[in-house]
Amino acid sequence: MLEVLPGIFQLRLPLAFGLGHSNAYVLRDGDAWLLYDCGYSSADCQAIWHELLQDELRGGIARIVVSHHHPDHMGNARWLEQATQAEIYMADAEKHCAEAYHQSDIGGQFHAFLEKHGMDRASAQQVVEQYVQSQLTSPLPEKILPIKAGDIFAAGPYRFQAYILGGHSDAQVILFDAETGAALVSDHLLQFITPNIALWPYGDRKPLTSYFKSLEVLKGLNIQTVLPGHHKVYRTADQRIEQLKVHHRDLLEKIENSLMGKLSAFDLAARVFGTTIFRETRFVLHKMLAQQEILSHLQYLASTGQVLKHEEDRVYWQIAPLP
Ligand SMILES: [Zn+2]
Repeated sequence: MLEVLPGIFQLRLPLAFGLGHSNAYVLRDGDAWLLYDCGYSSADCQAIWHELLQDELRGGIARIVVSHHHPDHMGNARWLEQATQAEIYMADAEKHCAEAYHQSDIGGQFHAFLEKHGMDRASAQQVVEQYVQSQLTSPLPEKILPIKAGDIFAAGPYRFQAYILGGHSDAQVILFDAETGAALVSDHLLQFITPNIALWPYGDRKPLTSYFKSLEVLKGLNIQTVLPGHHKVYRTADQRIEQLKVHHRDLLEKIENSLMGKLSAFDLAARVFGTTIFRETRFVLHKMLAQQEILSHLQYLASTGQVLKHEEDRVYWQIAPLP
């Protein structure tokens, strides 16, 4: 446990794929603790929680805020619910995503969706086996209490206000303490990578539009310290927000420049991101993230009338003729 602000501790929890870790935060609240995010559901991670609950966190976790439904943040929610009897909080729309993600036929839905947008069958199959089905081993918590925008989570000297922001997922909960300018942002503002803005078989159909709106909200808060869901704590929130906007504007431009004729999102992703990750099977996760990221940008360009979407055997995209 690394104390990143007085009474707020960062936990770096192991993640078997992707970034290698995800962060959770525990906030001292009298004798008990408030937890923000739970880490990925794995034996390694649960061993860490088990040890902490015997030792530093023996006062008990009373409340758990789950920022969003991705498995590296929500994974241990059910396990922690049973181990601590804590109350679990999540935004309603995000809970619906969690339920959609835990449907019994989600593997089939993912497969069909990935293929429809151009991914080859073997890669789609690998994605489902390695990343979709394997993550359904952790059931949802038995009881999830709702969070509404403006709800206050007090802990020690802090009064964190909930903001519910879309983009990276439908309704990510950000906690902001106006007094200190501290913000628990989960995957909304990451320092070393751009948060994945992707289209999934379920949820928001215009995630990039939502993300741009969320960045404006965050810009208005005057955040002093960013406590992110991955990597270390940092202070340059507004600068990072500007970089992220530029990143997505650049990517939109690249997409428009690379979209010649009619292409699927997958073929366009190979053009935009280069072919290295598309040649090697071990990068199947990257392939999927690339395809879905391109897709969220295409949906944005379709919403502004810059590209046309054709639904045939697969979905194809084309630059819209000038009006
Ligand atoms: Zn995430």
